[in-house]
Amino acid sequence: MDSSPSAPDQVLEIDALIIGAGPVGLYQAFQLGLQGIQAHMVDALPYAGGQCVELYADKPIYDIPGFVICTGRELVNNLLRQLQPFNTEFHFGQLVSQVERQKDGRFQVTTERHGRTVQRFTTKTIFIAAGVGAFEPRKLKVEGLARYEGTQVHYEPQSASRFAGSRLVIVGDGEQALRNALQWCVGTPQSQPALSVTVLHRRDAFSASEETVAEFRSRLVAGHIHFVAGQISGIQADPSTLSSLEISVAEGPPRKLPVDQLLVLQGMSPKMGPIAKWGIAMERRQLLVEPDTCTTSEAGIFAVGDVNTYPGKKKLIVCGFHESVLAAFGAMPIITPGKEVPLEYTTTSSRLHKLLGVTQPESR
Ligand SMILES: Cc1cc2nc3c(=O)[nH]c(=O)nc-3n(C[C@H](O)[C@H](O)[C@H](O)COP(=O)(O)OP(=O)(O)OC[C@H]3O[C@@H](n4cnc5c(N)ncnc54)[C@H](O)[C@@H]3O)c2cc1C
Repeated sequence: MDSSPSAPDQVLEIDALIIGAGPVGLYQAFQLGLQGIQAHMVDALPYAGGQCVELYADKPIYDIPGFVICTGRELVNNLLRQLQPFNTEFHFGQLVSQVERQKDGRFQVTTERHGRTVQRFTTKTIFIAAGVGAFEPRKLKVEGLARYEGTQVHYEPQSASRFAGSRLVIVGDGEQALRNALQWCVGTPQSQPALSVTVLHRRDAFSASEETVAEFRSRLVAGHIHFVAGQISGIQADPSTLSSLEISVAEGPPRKLPVDQLLVLQGMSPKMGPIAKWGIAMERRQLLVEPDTCTTSEAGIFAVGDVNTYPGKKKLIVCGFHESVLAAFGAMPIITPGKEVPLEYTTTSSRLHKLLGVTQPESR
């Protein structure tokens, strides 16, 4: 289902663009599929799931209708499975940065990654399912560090030989940080190991899984990985090269830590970011919608899930699912003007069976 980005100057002409691949965006794509519309979907994260996967993947949810219990990840996997018949095009790792209305009433949408344009769309309708905002890596706020981003400072795991032979410092205490430390202290089939690996976290306690922490501690004891409890308070660098970090520790003067490459894996946090600049009416940082169709103040732009507000709004997944149904019906007069949009049951409609790819109604 993944799609690789086409050239930025190539504009994809589409009917429906969904911003956000959280649970509500995924169900929006399903509801559009039932209307015979193939949606394109963009998310800043490299995978689907929004808050369910980013914030509570393995924790239980008890209030999804028909599921007594499921984890965040299970819910998202089921939504993806349900969506499969509709060939949704996913554009992951891209932030929707600009939305502008064209003279013909359609919208020009631009996505970017690391500040560079990745994809342009011309779309008849937009469904904003942006939740509490685009998930971005938590960055370090250390004076002068931003200058080395992309060369010596990284906020995403790097592939191939990027850190081979270097003095690597990894900031973080979670699964991803410790797994990267374990990977780079031994190397991979494609790459030599780092010269040294130091994990930096404010205290000697880790939020990674028990198994990963145990493996990490045995590497520490063996001297394959180093650990420093502290926080970066400054850097030593010249304009071209970051050479060492100044680390403040609980007791005693700051310590100097030589570094060639710095990998910061402190998890993700959501940022509302560009949405507020698209000229859509908002109330307390949420997009105001008409409750009957979830249309925003801009005809053709719908908002569903945590990002919207209307009298009585509840920020629950089930409410977002309901809004997706209303938005899909609300959008059809714009996507296929003049065409009748009947309400049909998936149980009995042969048209819907065809769309779903089921020749016989499932008898389970
Ligand atoms: C710990 C926790 C437990 C919860 N438990 C429950 C529960 O038991 N039951 C329940 O009903 N709800 C629960 N919730 C709330 C539920 O997770 C949210 O209501 C739900 O995730 C909202 O879904 P969404 O699709 O609207 O937004 P999100 O899940 O927030 O997804 C939005 C997606 O949009 C992307 N995005 C945003 N802006 C852009 C942009 N400009 N460009 C590209 N991508 C963008 C983000 O990266 C994100 O992936 C819980 C929430 C938390 C934090």
